[in-house]
Amino acid sequence: MGQPRTFTFPGEVGPKMSETQVPNTVRLTSHVGSTARFPIVWGASGPLERGPIVAGAPDTPGRNAIGAHHGAVSVYRAVAVAAGGLDAAHVPDLTDTTPTDVIGPWPRWGDPKALVSLDPFGATVSEHYGDLIAGGARIQPSIAVTRSRLRLPETEVAVAVGSLEPDGDILHEDGSIGVTKAAIEPVWYLPGIAERFGVDVHTLRRVLFEQTGGMFPELVTRPDLDIFLPPIGGTTVYIIGGPERLSDGSPVTARVHDECNGSDVFGSDICTCRPYLIQAVHGCVSDAQKGSVGVVAYFRKEGRALGEVTKFLVYNARKRQPGGDVAREYFNRTECVAGVQDARFQQLMPDVLVWLGIDRIERLISMSNEKYDAIVSSGIEVGDRVEIPPESIPADAWVEIEAKRAAGYFSSRGASDLATEGREFD
Ligand SMILES: [Zn+2]
Repeated sequence: MGQPRTFTFPGEVGPKMSETQVPNTVRLTSHVGSTARFPIVWGASGPLERGPIVAGAPDTPGRNAIGAHHGAVSVYRAVAVAAGGLDAAHVPDLTDTTPTDVIGPWPRWGDPKALVSLDPFGATVSEHYGDLIAGGARIQPSIAVTRSRLRLPETEVAVAVGSLEPDGDILHEDGSIGVTKAAIEPVWYLPGIAERFGVDVHTLRRVLFEQTGGMFPELVTRPDLDIFLPPIGGTTVYIIGGPERLSDGSPVTARVHDECNGSDVFGSDICTCRPYLIQAVHGCVSDAQKGSVGVVAYFRKEGRALGEVTKFLVYNARKRQPGGDVAREYFNRTECVAGVQDARFQQLMPDVLVWLGIDRIERLISMSNEKYDAIVSSGIEVGDRVEIPPESIPADAWVEIEAKRAAGYFSSRGASDLATEGREFD
C-alpha cells in the first residue's frame, strides 16, 4: 500500500533484450514519419503504377500501410523479436521463393471495387519491385504460390473402391493429388472495404480501432493511409488440374470453405465441414480429369468468424437447452451467445476468385445462399450448385443441415425438418 506504480517499457530493459535487435526509442504511429512514403493508387492495372505495399515498424522507410505482415501470427513475430530470437532488422532473403505458377494478371485486377481485401501483386513483389528492394525498401510478398501433393485417407479409400481412378497426373497411383496452392494474407483497401459493407469509411476505421482495444491508432489518426494489414487469418487456395486452365476457358469447379478445425482436421461429427471439403476435393479431381480446373479456397474464419471458444460455448448451449439440440433452435443459440448468427462477411470472399481470374463457376460445391449471393454479386456467374449427398452427412450434423435448409440454403431435397434432433452429450 502506498507503493508508487511504475511501468517500464519492455524495450528498455530485460535480460533477453538485445539493444541491436529492439529499438530503444518508440516512434508513435500517430506521428507522421520523416521519410516520404510510396504512393498507392489502388486499382491501378500495373504494379508500378499501383505502388508497393510497405508495412512494418513505424520508422520503416516508405511505409504506407497500417498493421503488419503475416496476419494473425504477426503477434508471434513481435514476441520473437522481444524475446531476442529474431532481429527486428532482418530482411527476408527471397532467393528462389518466386511463384511456381503464374496467376494473372487479369483485367479485373485493375478494378478498384473488384478487389479490396488482397494485393493482386502480392505474389510477385520481387519481380515488380526488385530495384526498390535492392535499394533497401522493405517490400514483402503477401501471397506465395507453390506446388504439393495431398494425401487424404478418404482419397485412398475412393481409389480402393474405384470411385476415383488414378490418371498419373492429377491423381497419382499412390492416391496422392497434385495441386498448386497459394497462401494469401489479407491486405485491405479501407475505402473499398467500407463500400463493400455499405458503411462510411471513417466509421469503419473508428470502430476497427475501438473494437480491437485501440490496437491500431493510425486507423483514426492517419486517414491518409488507406491500406490496412489486419491481424486476422488469411486464405489458402488449392488448384487441381493446373492453374494454366484458369486462363484457357476450362470449366471451373469450386468450393469456398470456411475453416472448421474440429471437423476439418479432427473429424468432429456435429457438422459437415470435412465431408464437404472431401466432396469438393474429389469433385475437383474427377472434374479436372474431364478437362475442368478445380479450386478449393480455404478461409481462416473459424466458428463463423466468431472463434472456436464461441463455437464450443454454442455447442454446450445447444446440447443443454430444454428439449435438446434441435434444428429450429440452431441459429438462435449462436445469436444468444455471440450477439450475431454469423460474422464471416462473405462480401469479401469473392476477391480470391477475382484474383484467380474466374468469371464463371460451372459447378459450385456449396449449399450456402450467402456464399452464392456474394459470388453472383461480384459479377461471377454460377452454373450448377452442388449440395452434400445425404450419405456423407454424419448423424449428429443433420440438425445443422436441416436448420440451414430451412434458412434458405440451396437444396434439391424436400421440405426441411426443424424438429430434427441431435445427440445428447455422451
Ligand atoms: Zn464444421
